[in-house]
Amino acid sequence: MEKQIKALAQKYRMYTAENLAKMVQVKSYSSKEEEVAHLIVKLCEEAGFDEVRIDGLGSVIGRVGFGAKHLAFDAHIDTVEVGNLQNWNFDPFSGEIKDGLVYGRGSSDQKGGAAAMITAARILKDLDYKGEYSVWFTFTVMEEDCDGMCWKYLIEEEQFKPDIVVSTEPTSCQLYRGHRGRMEIKVVLRGVSAHGSAPKRGISAAYKAAKAALAIEQLNDDLPSDADGFLGKGTITVSQMDVHGPSQCAVADYAMLYLDRRLTWGEDAQLAINQVKEYISKATGDPVDQISVEMPMYEKVGWTQKEYYQELYFPTWKLDEDHYVVQAGIEAYKRLYARRPVVDKWTFSTNLVATTGRHKIPAIGFGPGDEVQAHAPNEINRVDDLEICSAFYAMLVYVLAEKRSGR
Ligand SMILES: [Zn+2]
Repeated sequence: MEKQIKALAQKYRMYTAENLAKMVQVKSYSSKEEEVAHLIVKLCEEAGFDEVRIDGLGSVIGRVGFGAKHLAFDAHIDTVEVGNLQNWNFDPFSGEIKDGLVYGRGSSDQKGGAAAMITAARILKDLDYKGEYSVWFTFTVMEEDCDGMCWKYLIEEEQFKPDIVVSTEPTSCQLYRGHRGRMEIKVVLRGVSAHGSAPKRGISAAYKAAKAALAIEQLNDDLPSDADGFLGKGTITVSQMDVHGPSQCAVADYAMLYLDRRLTWGEDAQLAINQVKEYISKATGDPVDQISVEMPMYEKVGWTQKEYYQELYFPTWKLDEDHYVVQAGIEAYKRLYARRPVVDKWTFSTNLVATTGRHKIPAIGFGPGDEVQAHAPNEINRVDDLEICSAFYAMLVYVLAEKRSGR
């Protein structure tokens, strides 16, 4: 089986690269993915998928096979913008294929994963796959703006909850089994305004904000560095501040601090909020119940005109190395390439915050291209990686079936 899969992935090498080029050529910023979604529907139909549909939020959902268990491969199809064009040495939307590379915005983050998924489906069809997993391929929207919201929607609104998820975000063809979570926190502190000529009559929200910011710096230092050997330490930083009062000649009575919190294993939203309240209360002297600390909401209208929203909380996830899904990933790679893959984690955050952080579906990551390409100018992907990933996804389907039946 592994020989056949490898041969097909090689045969389809340029097909995969050309599909990636086509996707790169269609600009698809977050919530504006309509055109690329229609392109992907067409590519899936050409590849022989058993079903292709578009969900309420605008993600493309394809399937191969009819099994009772459900495995999903996920790629987000939106990209970040190109930024300053001066920093690019080529047209970000050329999709040029040259010297074993595919060029352009989204080639690594992460239309490469999408292209490799379509080829994997085609390989499964060529092999007349009829295993116990229905194999789903999800090409999801709005990840760059709000990771996981597309999956929160699929699971909670469309009751689409697979048994296993594989993210195809870039891992340089390494096997990933976790990443830190994150959340955004908005703190509002109140003062009492007074005429600027007599500051002692007022209570300055500006000085509270300054003390609060330093308290957050202290909190970051105090977060335990040995919290998790695999994911590392949680962090917190002030990402934005705003202070104002009734005039430029007044004691400021309003202060806002915006915080970016990265959550390691064992840290959740409630813990993080309590820590912020405690540190700021101690620094400013304000009682805990008078400090407003909240998670802002993300609200967006997708290209289908559907409105959806969620709090800006993205829970941490990891699987132990001996989990059967991680082991299946290792086994699939070994069968194809006769060596063990590197097992590691992402630095950034992915849709798995929803499937796995929030909804506890076991997941792994394996994708073409390098994480450092994400959001950078002169983004490229390697045709070699695309070939490896298309083979790996097809192989994984068969290995998972064997693991389950204990063969
Ligand atoms: Zn991405």
